[in-house]
Amino acid sequence: VEVALQPIAYVPAASLDEAVSALREGGELARVLSGGTDVIVQAREGKRNVGMLVDIKKVPEANEISFDPQDGLTLGATVPCYKIYGSEMIQRVYPALVDSASLIGGVQIQSRASLGGNLCNSSPAADSIPTLIALEATCLIAGAHGTRRVPVEEFCIGPGQNQLQSGEMLVSFHFPPPRPRSGARFLRFIPRNEMDIAVANAAVSLTLNERRDTIEWGRVAIGAVAPTPLLVAEAGAALAGAAATAAGLEKAVQAAQAAARPISDMRGSAAQRRHLVGVLVRRAAEAAIERAKAG
Ligand SMILES: Cc1cc2nc3c(=O)[nH]c(=O)nc-3n(C[C@H](O)[C@H](O)[C@H](O)COP(=O)(O)OP(=O)(O)OC[C@H]3O[C@@H](n4cnc5c(N)ncnc54)[C@H](O)[C@@H]3O)c2cc1C
Repeated sequence: VEVALQPIAYVPAASLDEAVSALREGGELARVLSGGTDVIVQAREGKRNVGMLVDIKKVPEANEISFDPQDGLTLGATVPCYKIYGSEMIQRVYPALVDSASLIGGVQIQSRASLGGNLCNSSPAADSIPTLIALEATCLIAGAHGTRRVPVEEFCIGPGQNQLQSGEMLVSFHFPPPRPRSGARFLRFIPRNEMDIAVANAAVSLTLNERRDTIEWGRVAIGAVAPTPLLVAEAGAALAGAAATAAGLEKAVQAAQAAARPISDMRGSAAQRRHLVGVLVRRAAEAAIERAKAG
């Protein structure tokens, strides 16, 4: 096999300012290096034209993990998966993040890969994006002209495409504090037991009433069934006021299936994906109810 090697400038950034300046100087061919588990593979295979990699692993803001019960969680874009599922606070307060972080690749990948990289790679099948959406995460984006915030559900605009402009980078995610009596769960379907790309995935976040028999509020996100991961507002609306039972979930399941616009490929047919996304939304909602009851 002939491999065309291309020179890539490596810029280790020690601060956010250094990272943003390097990205501006590097222009269109500069890319952020987080864990490198997507970008290095893509550069080597010639799938991305990369002239400069700006390493953000030492940028303090991109490594932050801080939680305040009033303000919620700030999670740096480059925090590796193992630190996410290893955090006692995240296990307790945001267990759906553990669902996603512990499924991405195997242990070697999890020691490098970040949720910032997972989002910025913008695969329709990415395993953290539905969870980020269900948990109402927002992105803090920095560029030469300052910072801006974008809800995760607006970030991806097509397969491998997102709304970052040249010279911009994702710094961190912000998650609101969990609502009272809430639970959330992420699930995916893959044909193998591990290390595969999702045929479909889904995350559900919901709250229960005080008697814990009725859903008060819900948010549903689905992946691998459209050009971008989708927030299905109709499914969330269908959860509000529904009984916290299998029958109560049915309208939300149907809404998620109706919103899906799946394709057929070697991993699965469109019909199979539409079926699967219904199964996953139902199971994720049931598990979210259990988590909400467990409190
Ligand atoms: C063996 C293997 C198994 C995998 N399994 C899974 C899986 O099960 N589920 C899954 O979803 N993915 C999987 N992946 C893909 C990959 O590991 C994940 O998408 C991972 O989360 C990417 O994170 P990273 O930090 O390594 O990203 P990187 O490769 O560093 O970056 C990915 C892209 O995002 C850009 N980027 C990264 N961070 C930022 C930022 N802060 N600001 C702006 N742009 C940024 C980069 O320039 C690049 O274009 C797998 C990959 C491999 C090699």
